[in-house]
Amino acid sequence: MVIESTLFYWKIKDGYELDFTIGSGFPSFASYDHPYIYGTPALEFPDLIKVAVHGGQECDPDTRTWGAAAPVNEGTAMLMRYLKEWIKSTFGDRIDWDEGPVMSQSCLYSMTPDGDFVIDFLGGEFNEDVVIAGGFSGHGFKMAPVVGRMLVDLALGGKAAAALWEEELKHFKVRRFEGNPRGNVIGFEDQVRISSRL
Ligand SMILES: Cc1cc2nc3c(=O)[nH]c(=O)nc-3n(C[C@H](O)[C@H](O)[C@H](O)COP(=O)(O)OP(=O)(O)OC[C@H]3O[C@@H](n4cnc5c(N)ncnc54)[C@H](O)[C@@H]3O)c2cc1C
Repeated sequence: MVIESTLFYWKIKDGYELDFTIGSGFPSFASYDHPYIYGTPALEFPDLIKVAVHGGQECDPDTRTWGAAAPVNEGTAMLMRYLKEWIKSTFGDRIDWDEGPVMSQSCLYSMTPDGDFVIDFLGGEFNEDVVIAGGFSGHGFKMAPVVGRMLVDLALGGKAAAALWEEELKHFKVRRFEGNPRGNVIGFEDQVRISSRL
């Protein structure tokens, strides 16, 4: 499933800019609640931090609107209220939450039913000759170094190399949904269900 997600940038109030920089130790963060909120330090744009909800609305990538803000409906309006409350209770008056985000961006997540990645040999007539990796479900970036390492090993070493990664790869099999549409049922399952409703 493809999800269109809208992320938001919020203005840091005058005098607090340094508090939200990496140099001051401000982290990338995730709040594993419903909804799941995440954010990053002031980095991409001066004096703005990214705080957004993980997830979004199901969409067709070929006909997506590219609207920075998803169509406003009851769900998105509720989310915005929740985001403001969360920012207020977490960062107090150091962020201009009341005025709302100063910027938004639209992007896509390729979601698997369980939120886990797909990393495997394609199988079938291609057997081990084709290695696939995808369905990173909005949390693949941080894993890029180790995923890259696995893909190199699989591409160069075939099944012998796969044995080295057996423990990891068993979660990421492309055929795990055959006869088991929920795949690896873990905490993200609820998030996927909720995200697809909003
Ligand atoms: C808004 C947003 C926030 C995110 N936040 C986080 C986060 O905080 N932490 C985290 O870990 N992950 C995050 N992610 C997820 C992370 O970005 C993805 O999981 C990761 O980028 C997926 O890597 P990929 O290589 O599979 O795909 P991509 O990074 O999408 O790379 C695919 C590449 O293929 C190219 N391509 C496509 N079609 C063709 C073609 N026909 N020919 C040639 N090239 C082509 C594309 O241009 C692109 O460069 C976020 C994603 C989004 C959208």
